Amino acid sequence: MRLIYILAILTFIGMAALWGGWYGLCRRKLAAALAAACILGGGVLLLLAVLPGNSFYGTTVTANPAAGKNVALTFDDGPYPPYTDELLAVLQQRQVKATFFMVAANARQHPELVAQIAAQGHEVALHALQHRDFLKLTPAQQQSDVAAGKELLEKLSGQQITLMRPPHGFRDWSVLATLRQNGLTAVNWSVIPRDWTNPGSGVIVQRVMEQVQPGAIILLHDGDSPKYAASREQTVQAVPVIIDKLRAAGYNFVTVSELMHKGE
Ligand SMILES: [Zn+2]
Repeated sequence: MRLIYILAILTFIGMAALWGGWYGLCRRKLAAALAAACILGGGVLLLLAVLPGNSFYGTTVTANPAAGKNVALTFDDGPYPPYTDELLAVLQQRQVKATFFMVAANARQHPELVAQIAAQGHEVALHALQHRDFLKLTPAQQQSDVAAGKELLEKLSGQQITLMRPPHGFRDWSVLATLRQNGLTAVNWSVIPRDWTNPGSGVIVQRVMEQVQPGAIILLHDGDSPKYAASREQTVQAVPVIIDKLRAAGYNFVTVSELMHKGE
């Protein structure tokens, strides 16, 4: 079921109640209460779809507290030269394995980067074929995007793709059903330093250190889809500092798939 249909039905009921109350077909207090309930219910359902840390619409992995002092660095929206290249050098130098949630259309443009990411032992995961709001796509559009994106990434990386982060982390019953049908687990995050707003590399580091918990999934960006305009230099500068500080605090870096199986 798509959330957008539920919201349309609630809007219709709310409007009908107000109309009925206005023209005296039902008591005005009752009409107002029904309209308010529709607005509140719709708002709560929408929030649950866009907030990253709940499984209301189905299982969404956001962290694994049972994983102890292991965390997963994740990078969205790439590959995106030269920042993905620079990040790979940082990760290799510090012997850290990360997870890249790729826009498959970008991966098609930069197959050499996908191959390099896989060769360095990082996990390749799907963000989408194209970076669109999946809540606005029909189930058929969702299915064709996810199936094509997964197939492309599997061909380019040589890895089996098992994880997907829907664009913006937005999901409802329909989005999660599409993922399940394609053998994909939905993954969001527990640490969000908002690096895409380029607040300064020091701020990115500070936010990660403030939010980190055992088993955290840390959201960062090596890309800028679908605009392909912003610099990711601040993220590239922040990542080695984040790695050093978290290591000093006793944390170890694993891929998201590894993190999910820790503590079992
Ligand atoms: Zn994204």
